[in-house]
Amino acid sequence: MGFITNIFNKKPKPAAAQCSICKSHLESKEGYALTTSQVVVSKKFWDHKMVEPETLSYTTQHFKAKDENATNMRRIIFEKTAEKDITWITCDTCVKHFDVSLDVSRKLADEWWEEGRAHKIPNTGKALDYLSVSEYEKIRNYATMDAGASLIRL
Ligand SMILES: [Zn+2]
Repeated sequence: MGFITNIFNKKPKPAAAQCSICKSHLESKEGYALTTSQVVVSKKFWDHKMVEPETLSYTTQHFKAKDENATNMRRIIFEKTAEKDITWITCDTCVKHFDVSLDVSRKLADEWWEEGRAHKIPNTGKALDYLSVSEYEKIRNYATMDAGASLIRL
């Protein structure tokens, strides 16, 4: 497939997409593009991520029962997310969880829509390639131990 698209020098442009965070529908040219490290360093992102339907039971077990397996699962969820080598496309609501320049993220989204789904914006890739070990460990510790506490009833 790569060969065929290369010889015609045509890139498939996405017609629509889903928000990488909340899965809401995005029309062509909408949204904001973020790098994995921009996503991963956000405490608000983890506060929401850890109370999604797929993660809520681990969070409840972690806080209420001090269940080590649940705590471990939260750490694994963090690590899997931090390893993602992708461009994150977010909706108007989700972008508020991140401390980024909206202008820059908007322009990067235009670039992504133009280049196609597989396009990686500059500096995206595994978070550990872009964060210091201490920054990485600090946010991993937050995501694993503290995230979501204020959003669940203890
Ligand atoms: Zn969203």
